[in-house]
Amino acid sequence: MENKTLLQDSLGRHHDYLRISITEHCNLRCTYCMPEEGIALTPKPHLMTADEIIHIAETFVSFGVKKIRLTGGEPLVRKDAKDIILRLGKLGVNLTITTNGILVPNFINTFKEAGIKKVNISIDSLIREKFNQITRRNYFDTVLKNIDLLLDEGFQVKLNVVLILDFNDNEIIDFIALTQYKNIQIRFIEFMPFSGNQWDKSKLVTYAQVLETVQSEYQLNDIERLIDAPNDTAKNFKIKSHIGSFAIISSVTNPFCSTCNRIRLTADGKLKNCLFSNSETSLLETLRSGASILPLIKQNLLSKKAVRGGMDDDSKFQNPDLFSKNRSMIAIGG
Ligand code: SAM
Ligand code: SF4
Repeated sequence: MENKTLLQDSLGRHHDYLRISITEHCNLRCTYCMPEEGIALTPKPHLMTADEIIHIAETFVSFGVKKIRLTGGEPLVRKDAKDIILRLGKLGVNLTITTNGILVPNFINTFKEAGIKKVNISIDSLIREKFNQITRRNYFDTVLKNIDLLLDEGFQVKLNVVLILDFNDNEIIDFIALTQYKNIQIRFIEFMPFSGNQWDKSKLVTYAQVLETVQSEYQLNDIERLIDAPNDTAKNFKIKSHIGSFAIISSVTNPFCSTCNRIRLTADGKLKNCLFSNSETSLLETLRSGASILPLIKQNLLSKKAVRGGMDDDSKFQNPDLFSKNRSMIAIGG
């Protein structure tokens, strides 16, 4: 198999960023991520073992993957999460993690040993009652404390904030105020439609609305548009006098598919070439049979659609008959 082309799709996009979901379990129940009734969990024998995760990750790294992000579900609830993190840390990639932050204190040393420097934490409200409402759990103080712990320990921290109209859009300025004295990046994420998350266009806070809110608070010449890194899904900004920065991720109103370099592996060993695609390629049975997974990877990449899993216009993207065929976010790994 050609080294250079395995991870290239038919549009020439090269995929060097692998996002691995290591569990479908979570200690929160965020309304936009998980249906109220929960999801049918995959039986353990059908989930990737630590050895299988490492084997698949090594395969991708040998074909050019340079960055791996661990996600879930909540990656830190998996019993062998430390072992997985430490072993992935030896692959020489840029290893990162997205977590709800609750279990972070148990992992500070593991992160350091594995060479993790950047941690994304999800927090959608700075008001305890609202945080509890959206997560359907009661961990607000723990998460706030653990954000500070990560900063004190020298990690680069980004806060993921999913914006929902009339719920937390009135906190945009409060989140940006955090960047005045803390060296963090706030990432405002447009609410995306997935199976069972009660998505509705009327709940969307768009890229344009976020900017409008920021501009109503700060003078135009105090707002700096930063240069985005290549393949960055976020448009980056900063208030000039602040230490930290903020960004907007606009998958709904302004998708970034043309520069997409991501591929996803679900906890049950399925390859998803797009967050929004409902077509998946199972690697696990083939891996367990001892056969090569390379042809499956190649076929999966070649079937990648140009835009959002083939939902190339708003009417398709916002059609519940289409997006409900995809998994819930908790079972994809955001
Ligand atoms: N449990 C970890 C966490 O919450 O950070 C990792 C998994 S979570 C699925 C990954 C990211 O996806 C989180 O930042 C979460 O806010 C985001 N997310 C989940 N559902 C979403 C949705 N419907 N629209 C936008 N972002 C979503
Ligand atoms: Fe759990 Fe993260 Fe989904 Fe919230 S967003 S339910 S913390 S996986």
